[in-house]
Amino acid sequence: MLKKNEKQSNALFTADALKGYYAPMNNTTPQGIRNAKLGPKVAQALKDRDFEAWYCEKQEEGTAIILSLIPKTDTVSWGGSMTIAALGVQNRLADLGIRVIDRDAAPTKEERQERMRQALLCDTYLTSVNALSEDGQLVNVDGFGNRVAATLFGPKQVIIAAGMNKVVKTVEDALIRARTIAAPLNMQRFPNLKTPCAETGACGNCKSPDSICSYLVTMRRCKPAGRIKIVLIGEDLGL
Ligand code: SF4
Repeated sequence: MLKKNEKQSNALFTADALKGYYAPMNNTTPQGIRNAKLGPKVAQALKDRDFEAWYCEKQEEGTAIILSLIPKTDTVSWGGSMTIAALGVQNRLADLGIRVIDRDAAPTKEERQERMRQALLCDTYLTSVNALSEDGQLVNVDGFGNRVAATLFGPKQVIIAAGMNKVVKTVEDALIRARTIAAPLNMQRFPNLKTPCAETGACGNCKSPDSICSYLVTMRRCKPAGRIKIVLIGEDLGL
């Protein structure tokens, strides 16, 4: 499924490419049972930090919640996210005729960069997160910083979708997950980049120019209240 060059990695960010990528989960599996018990508590912990938050069991419910939060007049953009792609949100936006800023459709590298800049002032920004703690703190690593920048300030609202596989006990565990699980997995989508984790699958704490861990950001609360909305989904999604 994952082969060479960035174009193919971008192809992975489509709903069609991700069909069957994640195993179905329901409330009879250990993961599903755990998620149904823990998910609502994590959502409440996020609300206690002024994030808006929802917990739902199924991907389809998550997609419906996300779409319900986006006014039809909004301009929407996103950071690279297998979770958002798996939910098929981008396709649904196109069906609804909502204006988007799509960096992956840019014809040139320069235009792609320009669209990433424009995304910082869109109305709704869609993304995921590398890890979150049971007490409602979010952790992201980012290579260029565009995704974390948009999450922190700029777009009028940010909608974060996250599978319950991203939830760990503490914020320290979230930092460890982001650095030792999410980033080395994510790096495998970019076979042309040269980092220790690309070679070995494990983080080597590098300072490589190709590092996707330039920026390490913890979000411990949301200000202004409600700007960041988090849709937790009781399935495995993303990396
Ligand atoms: S080796 Fe470098 S790029 Fe890979 S996870 Fe570690 S710090 Fe990030």
